[in-house]
Amino acid sequence: MAKCSFCEKQLMKGTGMLFVKKDGTAFFFCSSKCQKNSLKLKRSPYAAKWTGTYQKEKQADKKAAQKSGKARKRRTKRTRKKKKKKR
Ligand SMILES: [Zn+2]
Repeated sequence: MAKCSFCEKQLMKGTGMLFVKKDGTAFFFCSSKCQKNSLKLKRSPYAAKWTGTYQKEKQADKKAAQKSGKARKRRTKRTRKKKKKKR
């Protein structure tokens, strides 16, 4: 089975579309959204957060950060409770 060239979603048989450029490179697209983002808007799948490519990249980055021990810890901001005004 083919994968979408943009979002890496698995394509079922008989769905999606195959786009072949003049130079012979073939792209599989699951939806017109992926097709437009790739060809018309010329976006990178690494830049679009909703793609599987981005998610994989993000997870790889997290693992690499955990291995090197430089994982960012979330810090909570200290805030003071506002005193209620007595009337
Ligand atoms: Zn897609």
